[in-house]
Amino acid sequence: MDNSRLELVVRGGRIVTPDGVQRADLAVALGRIVKVAPEITDEADATLDASGSFVFPGILDAHVHFNEPGRTEWEGLATGSAALAAGGGACFFDMPLNSEPPVIDAAAFREKRLLAEQKSCVDFGLWGGLVPGNRDKLAGLRDAGAIGLKAFMCGSGIDSFAMVDATTLREGMKRAAKLGLLVAVHAEDEKLAAKFTAEQRAKAKTDARAFLASRPVEVELEAIRTALEVAGETGCALHIVHVSSPEGIALVTEARAQRVDVTAETCPHYLLLNDKDVLRLGAVAKCAPPLRDEERRLGLWQELRAGHIQTVGSDHSPAPPEMKTSRDFFEIWGGIAGCQHAFELLFSEVSGSFEKDLPMLAAVLARNVARRFRIDAHKGQLAEGRDADFTLVKPAKERLISADELWTRHRLSAYVGRRSRVRVTHTYVRGRPIWADGRFVNPAPTGRFLRPDSA
Ligand SMILES: [Zn+2]
Repeated sequence: MDNSRLELVVRGGRIVTPDGVQRADLAVALGRIVKVAPEITDEADATLDASGSFVFPGILDAHVHFNEPGRTEWEGLATGSAALAAGGGACFFDMPLNSEPPVIDAAAFREKRLLAEQKSCVDFGLWGGLVPGNRDKLAGLRDAGAIGLKAFMCGSGIDSFAMVDATTLREGMKRAAKLGLLVAVHAEDEKLAAKFTAEQRAKAKTDARAFLASRPVEVELEAIRTALEVAGETGCALHIVHVSSPEGIALVTEARAQRVDVTAETCPHYLLLNDKDVLRLGAVAKCAPPLRDEERRLGLWQELRAGHIQTVGSDHSPAPPEMKTSRDFFEIWGGIAGCQHAFELLFSEVSGSFEKDLPMLAAVLARNVARRFRIDAHKGQLAEGRDADFTLVKPAKERLISADELWTRHRLSAYVGRRSRVRVTHTYVRGRPIWADGRFVNPAPTGRFLRPDSA
């Protein structure tokens, strides 16, 4: 076999890296990027005309709930990975809960891995869970290849996935540090959330406004403070998922300055939507922590542009339509489904400042994720030697996102009806087209399992 034979040359696009945007061609052999140069004239098996488009690194979504096995009727690995690919995603890390059994030991991990290998059209990693009573299972999860451990500091809503008490968190993080595992936390303080919720219910308030009032920013900040303290004490790598407020980011920034090994994730919905959207859209915009006021939304953009937010993940968390209707807003299943359009809408949001902001997005949607989760030998950048994972983003005539565009199991999304000024036209994984010209060309389940490189 001739290893120098090029499989693909992507011509005429504007290549996006965290360092900037440059006009260049990109050559692929054996699924990897072998050259990025102003003009590549070598012959290749295939060419892709990218003129007029940005060539963006394949998005690594470190936070999805595809719910399989066990709650496949909520989403599923085939539909979830397809929707992600249609939105520019080349890889996801599935969370350990909402699937059943939850991934709190190696057996459940292996079961999910096998299913994802049979069904996912993009590459994937898997989270393990840290819950009361599974401390002796953590080594097994590490050996199975967990990307990290996820813990809840408040009720998760899933009976089989209990929140951590103070001891479980401290002892768990101690153990995780020894094993070289990162711990991610859902940071909302259970005591405060319960107190504010009881206050609303005592007033017989059950609407969306009452739900928002039951989870003010202080609930998040209190939990972040606790998690940072334990991370400092134990030396465990900490990742705070779905930070919803600039105040939360400020706490993380302060801890990083004191050399706590911590990173912060926010989600597109905190950057695209605000509390008024919860009142306007209802159940599809319910999540925890909840969407914040406009000032905080803009504050998060500032933090993002300042480089204080390390990663952005979708937290795609769908549920069947019947779980999204109740007169009591507290009873409605929380979670925003948005992995297909969330990233496109971030691109659209910065369409007035592509040259400045696309490199920033390439850092938080790809490079930083690959680095933090130790898959950067293969993923995260459009650079020689890395997997040829990329997506084409094209400025387009403004359109309204419609439900019939959705590839998710249920055609429910917080972003239906929203204006977009870009199109994600192509997604390639390891040099193979999955999504091209707005169609699935290769829906075969060829996703590959990723484990962190040894530290
Ligand atoms: Zn989540």
